[in-house]
Amino acid sequence: MTKNTAERPLKIAVTVDDFVLWDGMPMSADATPTTITRSVAQTLNDYGLGGTYGFSHTYRLDQEPEHLAAFDAWVEAGHHVGNHTHEHAPLRWMSDAAFRRDFETAEKHIGHLIEAAPRKYFRYPMDMCSGSEQRRGEVEQYLADNGYTNAPITSWFSDFAFIVPYFRALTLRDSEAQKQVRDMHVATAVEMLHKHADTARALFGADAPLIWLVHGTTIARDTLPAILEAFLEQGVEFVPLDEAMRHPVNYAMPPAVESFSNHLQRFAIAAGLPKPELEYERLGEILHLAPMAGSDTMEVYENEVFKPMAKRLGVAYDWDWS
Ligand SMILES: [Zn+2]
Repeated sequence: MTKNTAERPLKIAVTVDDFVLWDGMPMSADATPTTITRSVAQTLNDYGLGGTYGFSHTYRLDQEPEHLAAFDAWVEAGHHVGNHTHEHAPLRWMSDAAFRRDFETAEKHIGHLIEAAPRKYFRYPMDMCSGSEQRRGEVEQYLADNGYTNAPITSWFSDFAFIVPYFRALTLRDSEAQKQVRDMHVATAVEMLHKHADTARALFGADAPLIWLVHGTTIARDTLPAILEAFLEQGVEFVPLDEAMRHPVNYAMPPAVESFSNHLQRFAIAAGLPKPELEYERLGEILHLAPMAGSDTMEVYENEVFKPMAKRLGVAYDWDWS
């Protein structure tokens, strides 16, 4: 952190992704996507964050249509839904035609909810665009032609890494481990917000309103109040997504890259600055919290989420976490 944040209040727009989590992710028996979504939606309202945009892909609705209730619960609580594609695949895994079909499939499932929002937003799965500028340009044109604006992510905290460890800690009924995972989730959210804010400041010469991401997970259900509280203590001011979108950090387009990077990280790469990201050792520590046989975090992602997705799409499995 370069400076006490009390002297430089940060503006952030909160967004929540994938409150119906990716197919293959384990979830503790006491939770469903709908109960988690209701809880996260209520927490946001408790903090005056009505009208928060949520971006959840729709793949699981094919086999489990009951999860549409999670989308309905989100909107009924006063929040908005954007298009996050159907399959949640990296753009490079899809031809242009396949991408358009996938986008339209998501609209078939939740288009009525997207239309009900004040503005139609789209978010790339994992905030990843293709390495080809031409390819991305085609997608952006398609989005614009359909009345959509891309809502990027300019602050994240690798919260994907906590989902399986928290599932293990809950399954093991290890309350000490559960608290350890929760505490680290909150601390990491705060630390990574500062890292992104410092990078934005270095890039733009002043603080920029950041679009912050948290996923709609069991652990977010249990830590979001503490995270928002910690942000307020740091002098954070919450702003609507529309307001954050008026700053070039969010509406301008950094050069496309293939790596697992968010929008702000891509600006940093283009400027020759280090990517704001979680230290590798810390990430390793998180991934291995609450160990349990047969439930390795990265194996779950690789074998249960990404490989089956690649198989469905008929493409070679090609994923790099760096
Ligand atoms: Zn997502």
